[in-house]
Order: sequence, then C-alpha cells, then structure tokens
Amino acid sequence: MGTSTKRLQDVQADIQLAVTKRDTHHIVNQDGGVTLLAVSKAQSAEKLREAYQAGQTKFGENYLQEALNKQTELVDLAIEWHFIGPIQSNKTQPIAQHFSWVHGVDRLKIAQRLNDARPAEMPPLQICLQVNISGEASKSGIAEDELSVLVKTVSALPKLKLRGLMAIPEPTDDEALQRQQFQRMRFLFNRLINEGYSLDTLSMGMSSDYKIAIEEGATIVRIGSAIFGARPAKITLEDSH
Ligand SMILES: *Cc1c(COP(=O)(O)O)cnc(C)c1O
Repeated sequence: MGTSTKRLQDVQADIQLAVTKRDTHHIVNQDGGVTLLAVSKAQSAEKLREAYQAGQTKFGENYLQEALNKQTELVDLAIEWHFIGPIQSNKTQPIAQHFSWVHGVDRLKIAQRLNDARPAEMPPLQICLQVNISGEASKSGIAEDELSVLVKTVSALPKLKLRGLMAIPEPTDDEALQRQQFQRMRFLFNRLINEGYSLDTLSMGMSSDYKIAIEEGATIVRIGSAIFGARPAKITLEDSH
C-alpha cells in the first residue's frame, strides 16, 4: 500500500470520528454526510490514479491548464472534477465545460459567464459562493453584506445550481478563531435557508483544520497535503499567478 493510500485512509477515519463528535444542531444537510474532496493541485496524474484506486473519486484542482492535462490522462476514470482555484473571467468557458463543480465564485460577472458557457446538454454546474470570512485580511470572497444579493441572482441562472457557501479562512493556529469563522459560515448558511433557499453545502476545512470545520457543520472538506504529503514545486508555470 502506498503512503498516500495510507494517509487517505487515516483522513477518512478522522472525518468519521469528527462526524460522530458533531453536535446534531450543527448538521446543515439532510443526510448529515461529509464529502472528502481530495485537493490534487501540483500532484501528478499517477498520484490521482493511486487515490482513485483506493476509492477516492472527487478531486479538486486550482489551476486550469494543469487540471485539463490530468483530465486527459485520466479520461478512463469516473472522476468528479471540482474547480477550486481563483477564476479569471477569460477562463470561464473551459471551466464551465470541464468541471462538475466550481467552488469560489464571488462575483456576478463570473457566475453569469459560467452560466452562459455551460453546455446545454450537460447538467447544471454545481456552485458554491465564496465568502470573505476573514474580513480585510483576504482578497477573495464576497463580503457578507453583499452575499444575499449574489445568492438571489445566482439562484436564478438556469445552467447553474447553487449548492451553498465556501470559505478559505486566513491560516491561524488559534483554534478558537478557526471555530469562530466556521460558526460564522454556518450562521450565514442558516440565514439563507431561513430566507427560503434550498442549499445543502458548506465547503470548508483543509488539512490543518478539517476536524474543527466538520464539528462546526462542513459538508465538504477540501484536503490536499494531509493526503498527498507536502506539495512538490508547481508542475505548470502557465497558471501560476
Ligand atoms: C490548496 C487548497 C486546499 C487544500 O489545502 P491543504 O492545506 O493542502 O489541505 C483547499 N482548498 C483550496 C481552495 C486550496 O487552494
């Protein structure tokens, strides 16, 4: 068994443990499930294949060209691809054509372009809106007070399916602060539910904080280094900004 297969199994076990420790009031989706998204940026196609053979089917990629190359190499596998990187408006068309999910939408312009570029014969593109939960410290994500307008507009786009919210909190070792930011996300999520939106996804928690994220209501955790080890140097330069 390879090292990353062992790590994958450890992460899966930790996720299950965190699920059992969760306060039932923190569960935001119907089935209470937590999905592991393996973040495979900067990992070779062979690494993804190994994880797939160990049962992992959902992968998150940050850089478009790198992701498209892997999709070509792994076309024989039934992988569900999630785009989780920053989205430039000139890349919306290939993103809309080659992914099932996009986390990290934070502007109407991007949502509109993804909607317009999603091929008619494909199912709607699954969307999470990225919230700037750390305030000034972060450049990406929509401000909390602009969220409800964006939710309303994105919900009306026919080729998008709004599933919920996503956040990348500022890195911190302060557990209380981590917890507080995840709680805030749950609060924003529940407020939208109360406004009548049917959402089922809170995409939050990475290698360093996924257990706390799950305890606070995460339904998708995005985990890279805890599965694959420290990332090798970037394998593509083209997308590296
Ligand atoms: C890289 C990345 C992750 C995974 O980070 P790890 O610390 O390696 O688990 C999760 N989400 C996003 C948006 C990322 O860019």
